[in-house]
Amino acid sequence: MNFNTDIVYRKQSLIKLLNCVQLHEQEIIQALYDDFKKPAFEAVISETAYILAELNHTIKNINNWAKPQLVLPSLLNFPSTDYIYKEPYGKVLLIAPWNYPYQLALCPLIAAVAAGNQVVVKPSELTPNTSKIVAKIISETFDENHVKCVEGGVEIAQQLLAQRWDYIFFTGSVAVGKIVAKAAAENLTPLTLELGGKNPCIVDATANLKLAAKRIVWGKFLNAGQTCIAPDYLLVSNKIKATFIESLKKEITAAYGENPETSPDFPRIINQKNWSRLTAMLTNETLLTGGKTNSQDFYLAPTLVDEPSLDSLVMADEIFGPILPVLTFENEGDLASIISRYEKPLSLYVFSNNKAFAKKIIQNYSFGGGCINDTVVYFSNKRLPFGGVGHSGIGAYHGKLSFDTFTHRKAVVKKANWLDIPIRYAPYNRKINILKKILKWLT
Ligand code: NAD
Repeated sequence: MNFNTDIVYRKQSLIKLLNCVQLHEQEIIQALYDDFKKPAFEAVISETAYILAELNHTIKNINNWAKPQLVLPSLLNFPSTDYIYKEPYGKVLLIAPWNYPYQLALCPLIAAVAAGNQVVVKPSELTPNTSKIVAKIISETFDENHVKCVEGGVEIAQQLLAQRWDYIFFTGSVAVGKIVAKAAAENLTPLTLELGGKNPCIVDATANLKLAAKRIVWGKFLNAGQTCIAPDYLLVSNKIKATFIESLKKEITAAYGENPETSPDFPRIINQKNWSRLTAMLTNETLLTGGKTNSQDFYLAPTLVDEPSLDSLVMADEIFGPILPVLTFENEGDLASIISRYEKPLSLYVFSNNKAFAKKIIQNYSFGGGCINDTVVYFSNKRLPFGGVGHSGIGAYHGKLSFDTFTHRKAVVKKANWLDIPIRYAPYNRKINILKKILKWLT
């Protein structure tokens, strides 16, 4: 077995993985439910089906992606044939978070294996049932020397980070991202950081309000708001605020009923710590809807907060839960003064039928990725890069870009021997004028 160079072996490993995840699909869905009541529909759309699609796409394209790529040679090197060789980095460490605990562990794994690396996966300790099934799938599919799953919490992650790796791929919070980046710097290890941020969602007066409300409610309350690319806070034109709030309330009821606590489609907060962090955000705020909590199973209703102060807890940091602050704006200056308070977000959404306004927003602000007139869905196009910028992350992946992430692109010039133009060799005496002429001709 040589996974570094043998593409047939890598492909067979991915086919084996495909069979294994198909075999265990029901167990994965059950594990996600047991961990935080993730509805089966959401488990399929955002976790299992996503991984099946990524596996099929990678298996179909691996031969093409992995083969040396011929590029146009430089005339300066004439005669030559120039290639980019696709070389695996070597030993790769993947650290995954808990919010999409299956998909965010498996997606980078597929690419790291396709690219020919030896991989260690550390799933999140906060979703123990999913972590267990991820470990089972890995041990049933791969030789331990090829891919290994190491379960555990912070201590295990730190022990792993203390080792030397050739590439680190981390998905999680900004705070831990900084710890990972420091550990990687010790050995100058290249890395990807898929982090979070405070994602603005702008709704101007020209937007289709009913549809905007439907799409925002879906993107925000999916996974109970525990989605890195969920809208974090709304910026609504003050001209339509009252109407829009009514539309949001209607859509929340349409999706989750009068009492979302009994809805089979609304998950729970992952643990006591996050539940307490989130419920504390509601103290002293004016709630437009929601606010109901249950400490027994870490329930927190879909909640709209009216005009919180920018210095409030809810506006301090990424919310990462089912709380949606509604702020208003009158003009573009108001938008800038609020959005620019925060680090560059992972996502930005703008709802507007004014094409010039939407384009200006997209161009004026720096963010990882986003949508005009929708939320979250940009994630699903494998031809789009997925990743942050600034504090929301370093690097991007999905589709072929995932393969490229785990691949060193090695430049090789294969020189022919039938001709050897002598100008480059010393002594340089009087050659400089000829050199200048050649360079002028070439450019
Ligand atoms: P987290 O940073 O707390 O944990 C992520 C992983 O890091 C876990 O496996 C955990 O065991 C490990 N870890 C935790 N503390 C550590 C430490 N001190 N040293 C080393 N490793 C440590 O994040 P989380 O709570 O699991 O996930 C939520 C965060 O992840 C949110 O900020 C969210 O925006 C972000 N996120 C980003 C993406 C993305 O694709 N950009 C996707 C999902 C989640």
